[in-house]
Amino acid sequence: MNAMPELETFIKTLENEHALDRAGLVKLLTCEEALPLYMAADRVRKKFAGDDVHLRGLVEFSSYCFRTCFYCGLRAANNKIKRFRMEPEEIIECAKHAVSCGLKTIVLQSGEDKSFTINELCSIVNRIKCMDVAVTLSIGELSKSEYRALKNAGTDRYLLRIETSNKQLYKSLHPGMSYKNRVRCLYDLKELGYETGTGCLIGLPGQTPEMLADDLLFFKELDADMIGMGPFIPCTGTPLECEDGGDVDTVLKMMALARLLMPDINIPAATALGVKDSDGYKKGLICGANVIMPNMGRNEYKKLYAIYPGKGVGIINPENQIETIKTAIFQLGRNISCDYGSRKRLINTV
Ligand code: SF4
Repeated sequence: MNAMPELETFIKTLENEHALDRAGLVKLLTCEEALPLYMAADRVRKKFAGDDVHLRGLVEFSSYCFRTCFYCGLRAANNKIKRFRMEPEEIIECAKHAVSCGLKTIVLQSGEDKSFTINELCSIVNRIKCMDVAVTLSIGELSKSEYRALKNAGTDRYLLRIETSNKQLYKSLHPGMSYKNRVRCLYDLKELGYETGTGCLIGLPGQTPEMLADDLLFFKELDADMIGMGPFIPCTGTPLECEDGGDVDTVLKMMALARLLMPDINIPAATALGVKDSDGYKKGLICGANVIMPNMGRNEYKKLYAIYPGKGVGIINPENQIETIKTAIFQLGRNISCDYGSRKRLINTV
C-alpha cells in the first residue's frame, strides 16, 4: 500500500487543526520523504510567527554543575574538563555588549551551580532589565519561591528542557533526579507567568519514535511557549561517550511537528544542529524555527562550556557571528526582528 496519501492526510490535519494522535505522529517521524512535512511547517511558521527571526544573546556564565546527567559534558563527575564561573560584572559586560549589537533578549544559562545565591541572581537580572531587554534564565531546577523571586526581579522567560517525557528513560539518564520534580518546575513556571520553554534531546540511547511523539504531546499539554530541541551528541568523559548520536533529519522532523502542533510558539534552531550540519541553522529555519541564539559570552569561556563536543569549535567574535547569522537569515528571505520576541499568542490549540 502506498503510504503517501495517509501521510498527506496527517499533514493536512496538522496544518488545519494543529492536532494529531500519537500513531500519526510516529508515522510522520518515521517517514522516508519528509519534504511535505517541512513545507507545511514552513507555511504555518509564516502564517502564525511571520518572517521575523528573533536573535537572543546567549551568555553561558558558569560551567559548574552538581548534577550528573549521563549525556552532559558538564556533569559533576567529569573531572576531565576545566570549569569557569563568571563574576557578576563580567555577565553584565557580556549583556551590555549584546545590547550594543542590537539584541533584544539576553539568555543567561549555566549548569546547576549553587554558588550564586538567588539574591545575587536577582540583582544581575535587575541590572540587565535596566538595559531595556527581555531576560531569559536557564539555570535548572529551583523551588517555586526561588522562581517567584527571580520573576519578581524582572525575569521574563525560563528554559527548562524535560529532555525526555518517558519516565523510565528519564530515570535512567538522570541519577538522583526526579521526573516528577522536573514537571513540577515547569508547571510552577507557567503558573508564575513566565514564558516557559522546554524541549528534548533527540537520539538518546533507548529512545523510540513513540517516546518522541509523547514528548510532542507533553509540550502541547504543557502549552509551552518555546520548544528547544537538539540532537544528542555523545560527549567524552560521560557514560554515553561510546553511543551513537542523534540524526539531523529526526531533529528537523520534530521541529516541523512542534511548529504544526503549536503554530505561534517560538522555536530556536539549536546550536547543536549547527554542530552536526554546517547548514543546520538554515535547515532549522525552513523547518519551523524562528529563533537563533548567538553566543555572546567571552571567547575564552565558550569552549569551556563543553556540554557536548564540537560546540566551541570555530569560535568567532560575537559581531562576526551575528553578521554570519544575519546573512543566512536574509538569504532565506527572512527578516531580523526588532522586538523583544515574546510569543504572540494567536490561537488556542490546547
Ligand atoms: S544537563 Fe544541565 S543539569 Fe545536567 S549535568 Fe548538564 S548542566 Fe548539569
